[in-house]
Amino acid sequence: VPSNYKVLFLQGGATLQASMIPMNLLRGKTSMDFIETGHWGTRAINEAQAIANVNIAATSKDKGFTYVPAFDTWKLDKNAAFVHITPNETIHGVEFYDFPNVGDIPLVGDFSSTIMSRPFDVSKFGVIYAGAQKNIGPSGIAVVIVRDDLIGNVIPHTPDLLNFKKHVEAESMLNTPATYNWYLAGLVFKWTKAQGGVAKLEEVNKRKAAKLYDALDATGFYINSIEKSVRSRMNVPFFLKDESLNDKFLKEANERRLLNLKGHKVSGGMRASIYNAMPEAGVDALIDFLKDFEKRNG
Ligand code: PMP
Repeated sequence: VPSNYKVLFLQGGATLQASMIPMNLLRGKTSMDFIETGHWGTRAINEAQAIANVNIAATSKDKGFTYVPAFDTWKLDKNAAFVHITPNETIHGVEFYDFPNVGDIPLVGDFSSTIMSRPFDVSKFGVIYAGAQKNIGPSGIAVVIVRDDLIGNVIPHTPDLLNFKKHVEAESMLNTPATYNWYLAGLVFKWTKAQGGVAKLEEVNKRKAAKLYDALDATGFYINSIEKSVRSRMNVPFFLKDESLNDKFLKEANERRLLNLKGHKVSGGMRASIYNAMPEAGVDALIDFLKDFEKRNG
C-alpha cells in the first residue's frame, strides 16, 4: 500500500461502505458510475442510490452475470465522482484480473472476496474496501484503504462515524472498535506472512482453482458458464447438469465432510468457497468426490 493511502478498520461490514463512500467521495459532484457484474454490485448500486444519482456505465446482467463487459464499452461519465467495480463477485464467481484506467476519476473497488488472494496494484484505486470475513478474519469489520486526497470532503450533515477523516484522525478508534475481530484479523495477517505472504498464496490459489475448474469442465456432467478468462479463484459456482441429483450430491458431500457446497439462494446450484484458508488438500478431496459422484450417477 503506497504511503499516500490510509488503512482503516471500520464497523458496518462492506455494505456500509456502499453508502459511506458516496458520502465521502461526492466532492460536490452529483453522479457516480457503477459497473455491475453480479449481485454485490447491484446491492452497492441500491445503497448508493440513496445518496446520489447512479449511472450504470456497464452491466453483464444480459447474460446472467457471466462475464466482465470489455473496458472500452463502458459508458463512463467524465463528471462522475468515482467509478465503482466489484473485482470479485462472490455469488456469481466472476473476477477481474486486470483493472481499467479511468483517468482522473477515482476507481473504487469492493475487494471483499478477493483481497489477500493475490497481489494487486493499489495505486490504481482511490478507495479499496473489503468486508473481513473471507481472507482477513471474522465478519463485522471492514478494511478500507483510502487515498489521502479523497479524505476530508464529506457531504453536509454527515455523522462523524461515517466520515473517513474522523476515522483517520482517531486511527480507527473513533468509538470502541470491534476489538476481538480486529485482533483476530491481526492473527490472520501473521498467518498470511507465515505462509510466505500474499504472492505465495496466489500460487496456491491459482493451482487450487485451475484443477477444480478442469474437473468441472471435464465431461459436461457439471456446468460452470462463467467466461474462462474471468472465473473466480475464490468462489466457484457450478451446477449439476441433471439438477434432480442436487439433494443426493449435497447429502453425499456432507457425509464426506465436504460442507457448505449448496449455492447461494440467489443463484441456486452449488458453490465451492476456496478462500486462502481452504488447503489444497480440501480442493483435492472435492475433486475426488466430483469424479466419484459422476462415475456412479453419470
Ligand atoms: N461485497 C461482496 C463482494 C461480498 O461478498 C459481500 C458479503 N459476502 C458484501 C459485499 C457484503 O458484506 P457485509 O456483509 O460485510 O456487509
